[in-house]
Amino acid sequence: MDLLKLAQTLIPDDDLLPLESYEKMYPPRELPKGAEVTRLAPSPTGFIHLGNLYSALADERIAHTTGGIFYLRIEDTDEKRKVEGAVESVIRSLKYFNVNFDEGAEINSPLNKYGPYYQRQRAKIYRAFAKDLIARGLAYPCFCTEDDLNKVREEQTARKLTPGYYGAFAKCRNLSEEEIYSNLAAGKPFVIRLKSQGDIANKITFRDRIKGEITVTENDQDVVILKSDGIPTYHFAHAIDDHFMRTTLVIRGEEWLSSLPVHIELFKVLGFPMPAYGHTCSLMKMDGGNKRKLSKRKDPELSLDYYRGEGYYPVAVVKYLMTILNSNFEEWERKNPAEDYTKFKFTIEKMGKSGALFDLDKLNDISKTELSKISAEEMFDFMYGWVSEFGTDADRAHFENREYIVRILNLVMGTNSKKRRKDIARAEQGVRMIDYFFDDTFAPQYSYRFDGQTVNSVIEGFADIYDPADDNSAWFAKVKEVAAANGFAAEMSEYKANPQAYKGSVSDVAEILRVAITGMSNSPDLCTIMGILGKERCARRFAAAKVK
Ligand code: GLU
Repeated sequence: MDLLKLAQTLIPDDDLLPLESYEKMYPPRELPKGAEVTRLAPSPTGFIHLGNLYSALADERIAHTTGGIFYLRIEDTDEKRKVEGAVESVIRSLKYFNVNFDEGAEINSPLNKYGPYYQRQRAKIYRAFAKDLIARGLAYPCFCTEDDLNKVREEQTARKLTPGYYGAFAKCRNLSEEEIYSNLAAGKPFVIRLKSQGDIANKITFRDRIKGEITVTENDQDVVILKSDGIPTYHFAHAIDDHFMRTTLVIRGEEWLSSLPVHIELFKVLGFPMPAYGHTCSLMKMDGGNKRKLSKRKDPELSLDYYRGEGYYPVAVVKYLMTILNSNFEEWERKNPAEDYTKFKFTIEKMGKSGALFDLDKLNDISKTELSKISAEEMFDFMYGWVSEFGTDADRAHFENREYIVRILNLVMGTNSKKRRKDIARAEQGVRMIDYFFDDTFAPQYSYRFDGQTVNSVIEGFADIYDPADDNSAWFAKVKEVAAANGFAAEMSEYKANPQAYKGSVSDVAEILRVAITGMSNSPDLCTIMGILGKERCARRFAAAKVK
């Protein structure tokens, strides 16, 4: 068969470059020894999930701790799945978690010398290499219809044989020159398949950087490399792109492990050295006592948007993922609580070999700890970000007053580093926690343990003498004064010595005032709260809190 003629007929494009020119156009990168070039290669479906972040974090850490490059390639070969704005959304979502690309699609960087970074824009490169494989007798056109392929599959299932297009089942592998040209003349659509040279009797031992040594069987499947619309499959694009973008380490999901033999053969026939691979394990969760994969349909926490929407502190999500990515991270973090996680020596070899268990409770704990470490100003900025996107109109209006909220946060989160409040995991909890500092969101549940007359007399008594200029002890002296005037013991010791003689103690009086001002029987220091609220607002609250 005249293979050159066949290649020219199947791929007649006259603007393909000679293959060597691609090697020159995309030379090996000049990077320090040991530098790793990694990439994230999502489809632009608009759904970016925790598994993407998990891989991306590993990619990013490895590239940046070795002096390498982390880039973004968009695998948009499936037009149907494409969603407008998906690329920006990937970049934005990852940036929120401090994962930043050095190069790639929509990244404005002088490093962008290995593009285009959208596979659809790389059609010529794939076609040039497919044409060469045809000319070398290593690829061929296949005219099988869906129907033909279904029949093959049915026969294989019935005979309990490996499914696929291979060996004797690869009908078009042996078409004669005449048959091919008559099919073409009849205008039959065709795909281009690899003419596999492999034999499943041969084993290949391979070292995966995560899974360790694995043995796979040589490929014998004549996989599709160019689809009927001339667009490559994942397999073919992967080999060409990761070669010419000079990726040194491919980190991807373990679902690709079964295709590895195909990739090994493709790299071989294309004459490219193979990159290293690390196949990540799937993220699992416990569900009714069983471990199962996180699912897009059942688990909202699989989507990265979930963490932004729920207001998780991004550093906490990253640190939590670091604990499942590298088993020694937690210990390092215990020893270096004040260090940034980027100081940790991340290693791919320490990544889990099988099912990583994702546990929201643990994420909540880490988030609480992280939020207890930051300043009121940082907490404000974090909450402000959440409020701007997900808060109510009232929240947004409140957050215009930075100074007021920072004062509140200093009080409610605590300023003593040993006694910081540690029960806030998410921005929304923080926002709701301070609702009572604003009149429009103050929703008191007045519940007093004393009769209305006593309550009103305490409230009025204190409202009359309250002076915001009082310091804590002057303030408390006034509470005692009101206690004594209303039949409560001004000193705890007096009350304990003779409880029958009083209605209650000074702490009961403080509780009445606390309920009146905050609507709750538990709150941070009331004197400070009143100072923040200001005299007028306190007076209004006292008036409204009286028992009718
Ligand atoms: N587009 C593929 C995916 O999203 C990329 C896999 C890879 O990283 O090679 O699964």
